[in-house]
Amino acid sequence: MQNPTLFLRKAVRFHVLAGAVVLAGVGLTNCKVSSSGTAKNAKPIRVLMVGGGTSHNFGMWYKNVDGQTLSKDGLATVNYVGDPDSILTYLPQADVLYLSNNRPIKDANVRQAIVDFANAGKGLIIAHAAMWYNWKDWPEYNLSVVSGGSRGHDKYGTFEVNVNNPQHPIMNGVEPKFALKDERYYYIPDPAGPGIEVLASSSVAGSDKVFPSVFVVRHPKARIVGIALGHDAESHNIQNYQNLLRNAVKWAARD
Ligand SMILES: [Zn+2]
Repeated sequence: MQNPTLFLRKAVRFHVLAGAVVLAGVGLTNCKVSSSGTAKNAKPIRVLMVGGGTSHNFGMWYKNVDGQTLSKDGLATVNYVGDPDSILTYLPQADVLYLSNNRPIKDANVRQAIVDFANAGKGLIIAHAAMWYNWKDWPEYNLSVVSGGSRGHDKYGTFEVNVNNPQHPIMNGVEPKFALKDERYYYIPDPAGPGIEVLASSSVAGSDKVFPSVFVVRHPKARIVGIALGHDAESHNIQNYQNLLRNAVKWAARD
């Protein structure tokens, strides 16, 4: 016959163990619910941001300020690089390539990787300085990725941005008309390129010249957004710019 004391000890141990299993089960269930509840909204867009070059504080306005704008509420994770050669390393893990640099991209493999990324149907943001005709020995960039470019701009000062296509998702939450201080880029589409759709354009008092401020490139595969704005704090810190930038990254990532 079993020792009653031993039996009791075994029984108690069983109940304690059983209770632990039940508790663990509850814990697992709760965990599962909460992780699936957040998973739907919590898949950040992976942005590879490239800065560096001349005439701009890329670390402040792109890495820091735009980085914060895009990271807010878990919209995106931003990996900033100041060395264009490291594009090769990080591009395979990116949903959107955000180019703001005017530092030369010299490596033929990096150039090809950018063109291939576009041809694979990924997303690109071409911002301000990266919209310039920076690289005379790489015409394919301006022709096929930017569908044009800029070779000049007005002196830094105040101008007005007018939204041309308020229905486009990139213009969601952007005021139909707003003023800011920036360099007004003379972006001109190249007729040999895929063409663009202008979403917002800029004008100044006393001039009938209008230039695109925000546009999408009609690339056959990629989603490419051009943002001519962005010289310094007077653009990066304003709500209209931040809204359109977040929208642009979402749209480019087909989110
Ligand atoms: Zn500038």
